Amino acid sequence: MLKHTALFIDGAWQRPCGEGFAQVFNPATEQVIGQVPLGDERDVDRAVAAARKAFAGWSRTPSSVRAGFIRDLVEQLTARADEMASVITAELGMPVQWCRSVQVEGPIAGLAQYIEIAGLMDQVRQVGNSQVVREAVGVCAFINPWNYPLHQLIGKLAPALAAGCTVVVKPSQETPLHAFLLAQMIEAIGLPAGVFNLVSGPGAKVGEALARHPDVDMVSFTGSTGAGVRVAQAAAPSVKRVCLELGGKSPLLIAEDADLAGAVRHGVQDVMINSGQTCTALTRMLLPASRYAEALELARAEAQNLVLGDPLDPATFLGPMCSAGQRRTVLDYVRVGQEEGARLIAGGTALPSGLDKGFYVAPTLFADVDNRMRIAQEEIFGPVLCLIPYRDEAHAVELANASPFGLSSGVWAGTTEHALHLARQLRAGQCFVNGGAFNYHAPFGGYKQSGNGREWGEEGLAEFVETKAIQL
Ligand code: NAD
Repeated sequence: MLKHTALFIDGAWQRPCGEGFAQVFNPATEQVIGQVPLGDERDVDRAVAAARKAFAGWSRTPSSVRAGFIRDLVEQLTARADEMASVITAELGMPVQWCRSVQVEGPIAGLAQYIEIAGLMDQVRQVGNSQVVREAVGVCAFINPWNYPLHQLIGKLAPALAAGCTVVVKPSQETPLHAFLLAQMIEAIGLPAGVFNLVSGPGAKVGEALARHPDVDMVSFTGSTGAGVRVAQAAAPSVKRVCLELGGKSPLLIAEDADLAGAVRHGVQDVMINSGQTCTALTRMLLPASRYAEALELARAEAQNLVLGDPLDPATFLGPMCSAGQRRTVLDYVRVGQEEGARLIAGGTALPSGLDKGFYVAPTLFADVDNRMRIAQEEIFGPVLCLIPYRDEAHAVELANASPFGLSSGVWAGTTEHALHLARQLRAGQCFVNGGAFNYHAPFGGYKQSGNGREWGEEGLAEFVETKAIQL
């Protein structure tokens, strides 16, 4: 049982002003595994004041000093990677087969690149009679979701530290434990007091207070589009910078000349990893009508092949939903899909046979999906894949782009040239070609209602930078 009774503010573990604790559940066992304080507006005020006090000194440190702290944090995370992975498996339910590499080693690699990128803050550009310099944006608030908890946190923290910003972090209520472990590491590396502050609590209270706060210069939010809109509205009166990383309903366009078996197998696995709780999941598979029947059989075989079960079993591919509420949402969408006339060809059930507890949903496939159906337009955030037929490539591109979201996309085609031709027509911030891997050095973010920010790589740093023109 990980019982956290204090918040990390101004370099020390402090008693919260807010009363009570939020319980953290293991979604596979349904047991309580920890608790964190329910902070409130007074805790936000204290944390923002600490971050403000620390900003002047921290932002003026040489970039090499900040890079040194980032290096120290990389070492801490590397040394305690197993501990971090087991905390995330316990609070999120992601199987051990994936958790360490995806949820911990990936973010460590993402963090490490900022040891070098921090040096970009020193660059001065001469434009005519002006020197253009980079400065840190200020006090930043981070509001994060539960699905890739450390990844989301590092994606904001690494560039913010590199730029010279100070931060207040609010983790999700479902998976806050990793953030407390990270705060222990921050304490261990001796980051100056007030540079990193942690306030747990409800989004409507702690999150809104951060977004509204007149002394917060920037809010970086990752989560649902609905909550992101509320954050932007709360932030508007103080004209702070708002970086939004929101939901998705991404297409995988499989071309007529593609290796169908490879493409379908990859597409099913892409959605089922982390039980479909991935913002970039390619949840709309667009298939040539001429090969549709064949693709359905391939998809069904792959879905039935994936092992659903105990996250601690190394053979398990997908574990439970993160919470009972998320399972309810997903099962509601399974009902909606059937009412809309889509054909359920795999899954759709809650507990798999042999398990008597846990928030499970089996890998679920819907055939005969019309792209206008709710199950094709709304983010379900569960292991549910819509298989949608198209007539020709123009139709496929039209369907791919017929979405309020634009976070990610995928193309599978017979040649790279053909795939690139299609990729350039998709309105999304990412496009994965023939199963290309996630790249921590490339910018990540959404088009349309999937957001307006970019994380990772040099673009990630730019989010935390003000540019100043000094006229000589
Ligand atoms: P959510 O929107 O419910 O919550 C996200 C965070 O916002 C939580 O910390 C929550 O407490 C807080 N929050 C909620 N309401 C708030 C409010 N009114 N004001 C301020 N803060 C508030 O999202 P979730 O269920 O935790 O996560 C799933 C969502 O996140 C999905 O939509 C997914 O696509 C999205 N997501 C996007 C990305 C991306 O990079 N684009 C990455 C991961 C997840």
